[in-house]
Amino acid sequence: MKKHNFSAGPCILPQEVFEKASAAIMDFNNTGLSILEISHRSEAFVSVIEEARALVLELLGLQDKGYQALFLHGGASMQFLMVAYNLLEKKAAYTNTGTWSSKAIKEAKLFGEVVEVASSKDKNFNYIPKDYIIPTDTDYFHCTSNNTIYGTQMKTFPKTQVPLVCDMSSDILSRTLDFSQFDLIYAGAQKNMGPAGVTLVVVKEEILGKVARQIPSMMNYQVHIEKDSMFNTPSVFAVYTSLLNLQWLKKLGGIAGIEDKNTKKAALLYDEIDRNPLFKGFAEKEDRSIMNPTFNLAEGADKTTFDKLWKEANINGINGHRSVGGYRASMYNAMPIESVQVLVDVMQHFEKIS
Ligand SMILES: *Cc1c(COP(=O)(O)O)cnc(C)c1O
Repeated sequence: MKKHNFSAGPCILPQEVFEKASAAIMDFNNTGLSILEISHRSEAFVSVIEEARALVLELLGLQDKGYQALFLHGGASMQFLMVAYNLLEKKAAYTNTGTWSSKAIKEAKLFGEVVEVASSKDKNFNYIPKDYIIPTDTDYFHCTSNNTIYGTQMKTFPKTQVPLVCDMSSDILSRTLDFSQFDLIYAGAQKNMGPAGVTLVVVKEEILGKVARQIPSMMNYQVHIEKDSMFNTPSVFAVYTSLLNLQWLKKLGGIAGIEDKNTKKAALLYDEIDRNPLFKGFAEKEDRSIMNPTFNLAEGADKTTFDKLWKEANINGINGHRSVGGYRASMYNAMPIESVQVLVDVMQHFEKIS
């Protein structure tokens, strides 16, 4: 039986995406070839990556606005250094809102000065810092929109005079935003967009080409743009599966359609966390993530019983990250509200028998 998969990543994908991706392994679009063996230079695959790149920009509302979408290797972790390689001449501003931001900061320091303009480390990253000043003499400002591990999410973004760079790995394509406020967005696909093995980069071309250093080809956004995101062999299968997921999202009404569902799922679970005396939320209420709700057991609540109950209910992946403990129920785009209801039912049953 299929499990209710609350895993933080790699993530749940729609059933129809799994089915179409499996069919393409046997025969990709009647080519007589598997998607795993087809040439990335073949017409059949070139049209896949072209459609995926165009569809990302369409869903984000960024067509014809000077942006390029790239499907690269190396995960969001590689973007931590690639961003700095391409954009950091002297000094960059970063907010530190958790493990992933800290790692981004560490890599950027290899390329220049990093000003940490705000941090929520004082409270184990359970909130989003709000009032801070971004020095205007920085090359860019970097933030993390959704802190996967802590379950916090930026609801608004600062107006900046410098390019705005955002790690959206765990909430890409989940909520409507004015995406044109960003100059560079990156996201490892495996949190909300597709399988592991491909990373989305959406970049405004005009911010590139401004640093003096030599950039190795594989690290250079401009090279990848010139080569239509095929400088080297792309992750063919991961790009194709991401395309299937993007098509699914478009059919549902795009980001606005899914945002509505995501908001309802989050409300269902957070209401139970707040109502049920056996649980308490981890993140500050106003900064709660609609993707990764985090919560703990209240004092005295019996962990062994709760763990037994959710496992019996066929739930997978709600243990919290090791740096926070407790629980994290990741509810990415493809998670049906019915699965969230199963978890809420378990929480209520746990209260009844405790
Ligand atoms: C998972 C995650 C990363 C790291 O992604 P990789 O693709 O594994 O390198 C970076 N940032 C955020 C916000 C994440 O959730």
